[in-house]
Amino acid sequence: MSYMSNKSPRPSGGAPKRTMTAQLRALSNTALVLATVLMVLLVAFVWMATAIKKKDAKNTDDTTATTTTSAAATEESTADSSATEATTAETTPETTPEATGTHASYPEGTKLIALTFDDGPCEYTPQVLDTLQKHGIPATFFLLGQNVTGTDPQLLQRMLDLNCEIGNHTWSHTVLSKVDENQAYEELQKCDQALMDKIGQKATVIRPPQGAGLANPGLLKYALEQREYCINWNDISCPADWQKPAMGDAHYTAQHVIDNASSYDCVLLHDSHKSTVESLDEMIQGLKDKGYVFVTVTQLLEATSDKIGIDEARAQGWTDAVEAYPGGPVYGVRYEYSSNKYFFGKKSY
Ligand SMILES: [Zn+2]
Repeated sequence: MSYMSNKSPRPSGGAPKRTMTAQLRALSNTALVLATVLMVLLVAFVWMATAIKKKDAKNTDDTTATTTTSAAATEESTADSSATEATTAETTPETTPEATGTHASYPEGTKLIALTFDDGPCEYTPQVLDTLQKHGIPATFFLLGQNVTGTDPQLLQRMLDLNCEIGNHTWSHTVLSKVDENQAYEELQKCDQALMDKIGQKATVIRPPQGAGLANPGLLKYALEQREYCINWNDISCPADWQKPAMGDAHYTAQHVIDNASSYDCVLLHDSHKSTVESLDEMIQGLKDKGYVFVTVTQLLEATSDKIGIDEARAQGWTDAVEAYPGGPVYGVRYEYSSNKYFFGKKSY
């Protein structure tokens, strides 16, 4: 008891003075701590600012490096269509005839071929994509706007993911040689609008139904405004898969294309025909065995544009696009059945 009382009492007289000193000390300690914290914060801020600045500089360098690499890659001769497409997308976000000036060139003697599928999307389109994916090759799909509206956007996105090209085949498969300028223009515009609504981008190429109406001013006007190539097909390799004997005979369809293929062919097929879809695995393998490299229509056109110029097209009597737009650039392709050639032009006059 006494021990506790001796220990516990505090001199009451000195307490205020000692408390004040302690308070002052505490205050100065607090100020010191605060100052230290502020210093630490300041140092941290300066360090972070420097780090961010360095990072920005590094990113800029990376971008420059990527661009340089892309440019170098574009110059390089490559037969790898997927790499080419990726490179083109990086350097030229908008795939237009004008924008794709840095198109790939292929080693001399490379046999190029473009498979095209008209009238979709339809029930067999996923199966076509499966086969393309299996073989790692691209193709071009000329879609109908009225079919696009009922299609899952993921299917269209899958086409793009597989490096395929999407083409405009009008809204309702209207034969453009039988309608006036305004109707032709509207048919093409509505198809592109349907694509915009689904995947946020329009077609890059046009194929008029039945290959007709290339001289319709509405088609020419639209193609020029939108910078969309216009292309039909090459009938040497086309098995007319909508008719007998190809129709209903997958093996015949495959062999017809394999046996008749030649370089720069643009093969017309329809993913709406079951036998065509079933012929693809054999067809693609057979063409691969013969050394063909598969490209999209735009890639085919850009590769051929070096070889088949507008002058030759004019000499061969291809005048409709030229005459319709005197003085303007010409973007277009016309297949000449008589000479079994198609012509491409993109020069300005
Ligand atoms: Zn068609």
